[in-house]
Amino acid sequence: MKYEITHTCGCTETIELYGPGSKREYIIKQEESCECLDCFEARHHLPELEGSEKQIAWARDIRRGMVSDSNADKAIAITSARAWIDGRDRGFSSIYKQATMTDDERAAVAKDKKESIYSALENDGKGDTADLIKREAELIDSGDYHLPELEGSEKQIAWAEDIRRDYVKTEVADHIKEFEETVDNKCLYTAMGIDYESVLSDAEQRVLRVRDYAGTVSSAAWWIDNRRQLGHFAATKYEEYLENLKEN
Ligand SMILES: [Zn+2]
Repeated sequence: MKYEITHTCGCTETIELYGPGSKREYIIKQEESCECLDCFEARHHLPELEGSEKQIAWARDIRRGMVSDSNADKAIAITSARAWIDGRDRGFSSIYKQATMTDDERAAVAKDKKESIYSALENDGKGDTADLIKREAELIDSGDYHLPELEGSEKQIAWAEDIRRDYVKTEVADHIKEFEETVDNKCLYTAMGIDYESVLSDAEQRVLRVRDYAGTVSSAAWWIDNRRQLGHFAATKYEEYLENLKEN
């Protein structure tokens, strides 16, 4: 049902409420006992947020719940809707700290996180897996992924090498990130009754599979022809390539 609310600032707003009458009355009282979102933000000089329309709408509500006279001057620095949404359970000081970190501080936090992920793996008896994934990451960082020579004209090879290098770099980095997130979410998977071991092994395979693809397809023309369809389609494209090999 729709209700017309008059906020303390005098602005009116129509809101739609469902559920039991007592709950609706409670929300109406709450809304009428505070100023509207626009006036609240104007009074605290809060900036517009950056993000998608949905993210911004959600983040503005979260921000209203967290900002008061005592921290409004700091809240001005947090302009990303995502930062409010991601930090909504951690509280204001954590959101503020993260949003105002320098790049060096951010890098140090990321490094700590990485180290704790891999030592968690080792403590789990998965030292081999940890070494394998770390090795892939090192190879990517070094820029030498030990891939086979490509076949084709000189021009084709030069172009295809660029395509292949970009593909491998982004894919491996993405998959390593997924892998690390999987380790990080072990408790969550277990709590949800999801088989963590098999999710982890899938994530590991995804990292290693890039090497399979990139190490098998030696035709420069193939990389050039499929350059726009790599990424998520790599598996299908790769199967096609193997089929063709068999036919010819
Ligand atoms: Zn107002």
